Amino acid sequence: NKYVTTKNHIDGAPNASDFCICEESLSLNLQTADHEGISNDVVVVQNLYVSIDPYQINRMKTHSCSHNIVPAASAVLPGQGIGGSGVGRVVDSGNPDFKAGDVVSGNLNWGEYTVVKGGRLLQKLDTSLGFPLSYYAGGVLGTSGLTAYAGFFKVCKPKKGEKVFVSAACGSVGILVGQYAKLFGCYVVGCAGSKEKVDLLKNKIGFDDAFNYKEETDLSSTLERYFPTGIDIYFDNVGGEMLEAAIQNMNNFGRVTICGQISEYTNTQKRAKLDMIRVLYKRIRIKGFICPDFMDIYQEFISTTTQYLQTSKIKVIEDISYGVDSIPEAFLHLFHGNNIGKKVVRIAQD
Ligand code: NDP
Repeated sequence: NKYVTTKNHIDGAPNASDFCICEESLSLNLQTADHEGISNDVVVVQNLYVSIDPYQINRMKTHSCSHNIVPAASAVLPGQGIGGSGVGRVVDSGNPDFKAGDVVSGNLNWGEYTVVKGGRLLQKLDTSLGFPLSYYAGGVLGTSGLTAYAGFFKVCKPKKGEKVFVSAACGSVGILVGQYAKLFGCYVVGCAGSKEKVDLLKNKIGFDDAFNYKEETDLSSTLERYFPTGIDIYFDNVGGEMLEAAIQNMNNFGRVTICGQISEYTNTQKRAKLDMIRVLYKRIRIKGFICPDFMDIYQEFISTTTQYLQTSKIKVIEDISYGVDSIPEAFLHLFHGNNIGKKVVRIAQD
């Protein structure tokens, strides 16, 4: 079993030298499981797709740099495997709920195989709908989809016709937020880090407008240009200066939904300086959320999104790399904006 691990904690920007590819004998592990008397709850999964997500960097930091926020249990320790969303096929199972050949999603390793101790951590996938399996690996029918759906509908609490701004709009979550917002009847502007992404958002995805934030010198004036009557909802994926600028342009009773702060994940010094007097007088609501808070609306999310996909109302953009060896680079690329849409690594053929 080939898998990725970190060599050390990573407190700033990640580099290729922070990661290594290891190999282990899987049968040895299963024997160990046997000795521990837990083999009847062990499911061995061949990983097909693994999701590559920015938040993983926060799990890789030393405790002090994660601001004691990341629970110790989910910390990525140097030398250990790295779990994340994924889709795989069961190859062996001691759990009566799973059999060889079942296609499952769950917390899978950045590697070729995952030995899952506890079948409750896996979910059997209904493949009869015919969607690509990659959609379930943290993508449109996985965590990014639920994050975008719950974040927009349940946290932003939109009203039709409202003006919505989305950052990292050409990323996995942002591109879906923009589409849910358009389908709901909002006016949507996104920002992204290249001309190619901006063109895609405007011409293929259906955003009302988009701009390349890297070409702008004064982000507050830029937002004033795109939102002359102000922003009602800011869906924040990046934090930092973009968040500061958005606050300057929010309307009365505007909602700022904090989904991600990627500009700050790798820069331990940088923190947004928010104009809190403006927040006060404009009665702006700033609210953070994490996707697991919304598992109770999972079925609503899946049925709505499935319908949108079947009627081609939502377009899916995926950025796929191949093989375990490509995982570290795929991860590093997220922090340089090299991905377009959902970043996923295909480990084995469906
Ligand atoms: P993306 O697919 O959007 O990839 C990250 C993108 O962020 C890059 O492509 C890049 O696009 C942009 N970016 C990278 N560095 C910076 C920077 N310094 N300043 C501005 N933009 C930057 O990732 P996701 O869609 O998966 O995640 C988006 C955000 O949502 C992340 O912050 C993530 O942690 C968060 N998230 C939160 C969840 C929750 O439960 N709250 C769940 C899932 C994700 P560009 O070219 O535009 O710069």
